[in-house]
Amino acid sequence: MTQAFLSIRKLRKAFGAFTAVHDVTLDIPKGEFLTFLGPSGSGKSTTLYAIAGFQDPTSGDVLLQDKSLLSVPSHKRNIGMVFQRYTLFPHLSVAENVAFPLRVRRRPEAEVKRKVADMLSLVRLENFAERLPAALSGGQQQRVALARALAYDPPILLMDEPLSALDKKLREEIQAEIRRIHRETGVTILYVTHDQEEALHLSDRIALFRDGRIEQIGTGEDLYLRPATDFVAGFIGNSN
Ligand code: ADP
Ligand code: MG
Repeated sequence: MTQAFLSIRKLRKAFGAFTAVHDVTLDIPKGEFLTFLGPSGSGKSTTLYAIAGFQDPTSGDVLLQDKSLLSVPSHKRNIGMVFQRYTLFPHLSVAENVAFPLRVRRRPEAEVKRKVADMLSLVRLENFAERLPAALSGGQQQRVALARALAYDPPILLMDEPLSALDKKLREEIQAEIRRIHRETGVTILYVTHDQEEALHLSDRIALFRDGRIEQIGTGEDLYLRPATDFVAGFIGNSN
């Protein structure tokens, strides 16, 4: 038994002779905003995909409330996901994109309507319901992706570099949006970025990845003021 909501136990992922993730162990309390930060190729996405069920780990386990997720297929894990370029269905309206995960789950029409309206208001796109994705900006499309990911109230939301295709101003705008949504919904968030400012701005805790291992985990303040290694100091930007 653990007290953790989501627990990652000695997770290892090898691609042939190359090990991308080395026995990562991590406990995430309910409602936490945890960020995987680190340079490109350090194993952040691979760890996230094992949690989502997109890729089976070579060894180790992923537990949600003490139950292993490994035998649960990806679409039954009830984990919301937003990627860097989350392809919305181009032929479906914004409202129908958000409704999609509810229709797949055969929720009654009245509930679908109510939930779509709630979600569009959560991401402040009430007036865009009938548009097609192509008629929206990149930032608005990511907010639709966020609304869709949250539509069926998943206990966990995974985001893999969701803002890296956007310009700085939009990034900051949507960061504020993501913080507000985290506050309002209490969803547990695992967020991947290579941008230390974004990590410091958003997270309750940061796990700093290096070569498939967690070099240090703690609050932004911990990593910034008390870096455990020169690598942490250099990456977080307080190397003096
Ligand atoms: P990050 O998300 O931190 O940029 P990744 O988790 O995507 O890093 O990748 C970690 C390492 O694993 C990288 O060296 C990458 O090239 C390698 N890798 C990821 N996926 C595969 C794959 N399907 N086959 C072989 N190597 C892979
Ligand atoms: Mg990645």
